[in-house]
Amino acid sequence: MSVPLVDGFGRVHRDLRISITDRCNFRCTYCMPAEGLDWLPRENLLTFEEIERIAAVMVDRFGIDSIRLTGGEPTVRANLPVLVEKLAALGVDLALTTNGATLGLLADKLAAAGLRRINISLDSLRPDRFEQLTRRADLNRVLDGIDAALAAGLDPVKVNAVMMRGVNDDEIVDFARFGRDKGVEVRFIEFMPLDADLSWSSDKVVALDEIVSTVGDVFPLVPADRSHSPAALWHYADGRGSFGVIASVTEAFCGSCDRVRLTAEGMFRNCLFAVQEHDLRELLRSGADDDALAAAIAGAVRDKWAGHAINQVHFIRPGRSMSQIGG
Ligand code: SAM
Ligand code: SF4
Repeated sequence: MSVPLVDGFGRVHRDLRISITDRCNFRCTYCMPAEGLDWLPRENLLTFEEIERIAAVMVDRFGIDSIRLTGGEPTVRANLPVLVEKLAALGVDLALTTNGATLGLLADKLAAAGLRRINISLDSLRPDRFEQLTRRADLNRVLDGIDAALAAGLDPVKVNAVMMRGVNDDEIVDFARFGRDKGVEVRFIEFMPLDADLSWSSDKVVALDEIVSTVGDVFPLVPADRSHSPAALWHYADGRGSFGVIASVTEAFCGSCDRVRLTAEGMFRNCLFAVQEHDLRELLRSGADDDALAAAIAGAVRDKWAGHAINQVHFIRPGRSMSQIGG
């Protein structure tokens, strides 16, 4: 029998994000420096068996029902379908966030292994800009990856686009049209202060209100029930799908946050912006039993703060970038 994973503010946590590698085949300017970061030594990464063990404790003891694999780029980890199969067997809603570049080869195998949903990151539909942003000339591979995900029956297929002032904010309507035409839900993401080169500033954030009014000027919209999703959602009034905005900066959803995170080296984080981590790998490798693991996880969640305070003077930026935490 499981008990809810509750913090001091009464928030129940059901969603686990697992970063399975800090490595990446892209170098997105808002996430990584051109030369990459210092990768973790392989022996520091949790093995598939260790990931499965922590996930199983979280499902059995705390009723976690949703797991998302991320990174770094999760598809660069060898034998990813093997891990997907292990986690799908826990009976959770299993999802993946990826840059999409290798999905042409992998989408079928991932779906067969039990993956259900997928988010593919894509920040420009223009080849030259895509190359500037990712430092890779792979737009067509990502577009093929989106098609492969749809053809493999992954559902929903969502496209994540980080919007940055003066970089790609002139593509808001293009993305909306792309989503409508392809039958995928675009999720516009506000740029967060988790970039590796510390170039973030609040004037580079393209806010939810602006995104919605820009899309709404072209395609009439109907607001959707937000329920528990961190994304604010809108339907197109003509019935051709919907889009979302993840407004982590201008409309933080900390009050209803149900997420916890595990980094590639086994650090448990109770918030994306946490400055403190809890070392589960050390516990695992020193022979801790499931009771000890569950106690460490429950303690880490009890300590969770009310919210990230990005817009306040006392905000402390985490010492790691999004690719090292797991977006
Ligand atoms: N490599 C995979 C990918 O790109 O989808 C998974 C990891 S990536 C860190 C996860 C998500 O974080 C991506 O959608 C990416 O666009 C987003 N991201 C990275 N840096 C960000 C930032 N500074 N602000 C907002 N989103 C960011
Ligand atoms: Fe890699 Fe994803 Fe970061 Fe881009 S956003 S550099 S694809 S981890």
